[in-house]
This record gives sequence, structure tokens and C-alpha cells, in this order.
Amino acid sequence: MVDQTKIKEAVRLLLEGIGEDVDREGLRETPDRIARMYGEIFAGMDEDAGEHLAKTFAVASNEIVLVKNITFYSICEHHLMPFYGKAHIAYLPDGKVVGLSKLARTVEVYARRPQIQEQMTIQIVEAVMEHLKPQGAIVMLEAEHLCMTMRGVEKPGSRTMTLASRGCFQTEPKWQELFFRMIGEEKVYNQDLAK
Ligand code: ZN
Repeated sequence: MVDQTKIKEAVRLLLEGIGEDVDREGLRETPDRIARMYGEIFAGMDEDAGEHLAKTFAVASNEIVLVKNITFYSICEHHLMPFYGKAHIAYLPDGKVVGLSKLARTVEVYARRPQIQEQMTIQIVEAVMEHLKPQGAIVMLEAEHLCMTMRGVEKPGSRTMTLASRGCFQTEPKWQELFFRMIGEEKVYNQDLAK
């Protein structure tokens, strides 16, 4: 649980630090509001991906499972500014699968804490490997970082892509190729299937 008293104090200091009058009407409730909001956007601090990935189902054949375009919002730990975008997760089962929504939940667990995108990508792929014991797993995140687009180098529209793969997705190029085809243009993928 976040310590709301500390957050409130910190926000008040921060506002004073930038020269604001913390008692003016518009700001009076702000420390309180931010303390409550932080409870929500950092809720992943108290969660474990294992809670979501523990319940698995047996499958008769091991076909690739991919969930793409999982929207996420996280906070960059270097600037405490949002970065947000899409996550794509795939794995090749080894006899068991997990409910599809649980993969989205896993993304939330790691997004809702101070993060760097590279680390978050690795944490997700390793959670899938640890709890599902698949033949392989792969995760790609694409995100816009406000610390890059509204300040600093100011490159609006720039997107950061990160990739982490394990097992067959790391050792056998065909699985990584299939992953990229499946997250790419549907049209291209369908044409390919029709061949
Ligand atoms: Zn940053």
C-alpha cells in the first residue's frame, strides 16, 4: 500500500518548490487527489503476476497463442512521467495454457509501478516462462514516452520498441518470424495463409 501521508507532503513540497501557492483554491485538493491516484497507478507494487498465471488449462496440441495490442500505461522511473502504448505477447505452450485475459493482467502488474520499458518487457516474458513453462515466449512493447516527447529532445510521435524472447522464440527463427507476421498487417498474414 502506498503511504498517502508521505505522498501528500511530497506533492505540497513539490508545488512550493516550483513557486506555487499551495493554499490557492485550485491546488488545495491536489496533494490529496494525487495521493489517491498514486494508489491506483502504482497498484502493481502490491501484486504478483503469479496470482494471475497460476490457473492453467491442459491443451491437446501445442499451437502458438498470441494476444496483441494490449494497451498499457506506465510511469518512467527516471522522470515519473507516463509512457504508454501496446504490448504483444505470444507463447508456444507445452501442454498447458492460461486464460487470455490473464496475459493482459500480467502486463498491468508490471506497468503499474515505476518502470523502464526494457525491464518491463523482460519481466513479462520471464513471468510467462516461469508460470506456464511453455516451449518459448516472446514479448514486444511499443510506447511513447512523455519524458522524450514533451521535454528533453522533444520528438513527438517517436515510439520506442523493445523485444524479449525466450526458449524456441530465441533459438528458432521461424517462431520469431511467425510472431512478427501475426502482429503485423492482417492482410499480409491472410495472403500468406492462402498460399
Ligand atoms: Zn523518462
